[in-house]
Amino acid sequence: MYEPVIGLEVHVHLKTKTKIFCGCSTAYGSEPNSQVCPVCLGFPGALPVLNRTAFLSAVKVGIALNCTVNQYTKFDRKHYFYPDLPKNYQISQYDLPVSADGYLDVEVQAQSRRIRVKRAHLEEDAGKLIHKPEFSLVDYNRAGMPLLEIVTEPDITSPEEAYEYLAALKSIIEYLGVSDCDMEKGSLRCDANVSVRPRGMSGLGVKTEVKNMNSFKGVRDALDYEINRQIAALKQGEAVIQETRLWDPDALKTVSMRSKEEAKDYRYFPEPDLPPCTITEAAIAELKAGIPELPQKKLRRFMTEYGLSASDAKILIAVKPDADYAEECFRGYSGADKKNVCNWLIGPLACEANSRGCRISVLGLSAAALVELLGFVESGQVSYLSGKSVLTEMLAGGKTAAQIIREKNLAQISDTDSLKLNIAEVIREQPKTVQDVRQGKVNGIMFLVGQVMKKTNGKANPKIVQELIKEALKSAE
Ligand code: ADP
Ligand code: MG
Ligand code: ZN
Repeated sequence: MYEPVIGLEVHVHLKTKTKIFCGCSTAYGSEPNSQVCPVCLGFPGALPVLNRTAFLSAVKVGIALNCTVNQYTKFDRKHYFYPDLPKNYQISQYDLPVSADGYLDVEVQAQSRRIRVKRAHLEEDAGKLIHKPEFSLVDYNRAGMPLLEIVTEPDITSPEEAYEYLAALKSIIEYLGVSDCDMEKGSLRCDANVSVRPRGMSGLGVKTEVKNMNSFKGVRDALDYEINRQIAALKQGEAVIQETRLWDPDALKTVSMRSKEEAKDYRYFPEPDLPPCTITEAAIAELKAGIPELPQKKLRRFMTEYGLSASDAKILIAVKPDADYAEECFRGYSGADKKNVCNWLIGPLACEANSRGCRISVLGLSAAALVELLGFVESGQVSYLSGKSVLTEMLAGGKTAAQIIREKNLAQISDTDSLKLNIAEVIREQPKTVQDVRQGKVNGIMFLVGQVMKKTNGKANPKIVQELIKEALKSAE
């Protein structure tokens, strides 16, 4: 029996206006090679200057991942030749990364697992190669974009755990507001290192590194495939070769790309053009104080403070602006059961947001407006169904719930005298069901309620109608 061992290297583009060592714009999707200068094109003699925001963002991530922040860091040159790397070396960090020795707890199948974070270091991104059938093009707009590489220890024990780690990491980074973490735009990329070993053995097997996954699901699938491939090889008496493999998302398999360089092949040495970077303890403390409540803590608080289930809370906290919006709704809601608010958020509101391809917090509906509508539904002034149509109308244009209910005459009918007239009619029209109900087929009552709802265009208060029907059938017996 074999067990997998996984370590992940995640690269995130830090959100900055300019590149990590020069003043070029980091805007995405511009004309190729329109955001370049002597520094990021690697002209001899051009001097890099570290972007302050990139450095501070890296420190924030280190703090959030429970790392030790190095007060003294430096940059190193990592040498290799590739057409997307104009200097023939990448400015990265070797022995003194911004931060190291942290951890992230993730939940997998209701069990908490601690994944140690080995290091998080700053580096510059390379350019982008575009391959055509007969030639290749290179776009250096991406060269020099600030990257933070976050490396785990080989602590991950399954593809599922890798998936949960990535989701948790992404959520934290988004909460910090330091990256968009958009895998499709390449602002979050993941290399997965994986090996297998006989279950219970303590040493590590030979690993392969899998690249080119463009979704967390892709990472999970690639790992699944690669683990099976390695196990099959070992069972046949073949060795696993240390190499880099590419995930082919269409064929659903990994293919060999190149044998893996060793650190010594990169000829790392200190970058002479950048002075080492220092940060005081006080500055670290200040950054720490400015870190918002992080997702896992918020999840637990939503459960205890608002009485939500773990699964509901997990949905609400995933994206910070949505979590903030939900919280505003909870605070504005005077009812006892916050689950009612939650149901609207993850039900009709999320549904509308999905269909528009956006998040609930940017639908343009204020928390106060939503809470007002909930009040009308819960006090029985409008039915739940009418409430949903009021919501649709509120989302379409700037009207308040009260306005819409008035204009569309949606107020629920709770006046028993007028309801009794409708009920009498229904009893006359449905003798068969009435007889069934009298003979004990209680389901028929709901059918009769439905008939009354129809007559009142859905405006009758169904609870009151049900009571009145029961009364009417009893008294007429
Ligand atoms: P490299 O120099 O090949 O990039 P590192 O030692 O820097 O290797 O590790 C890169 C990643 O691979 C880390 O996340 C680490 O945890 C993981 N890793 C290292 N050895 C193994 C192994 N035998 N099996 C699985 N993952 C591993
Ligand atoms: Mg590596
Ligand atoms: Zn530049």
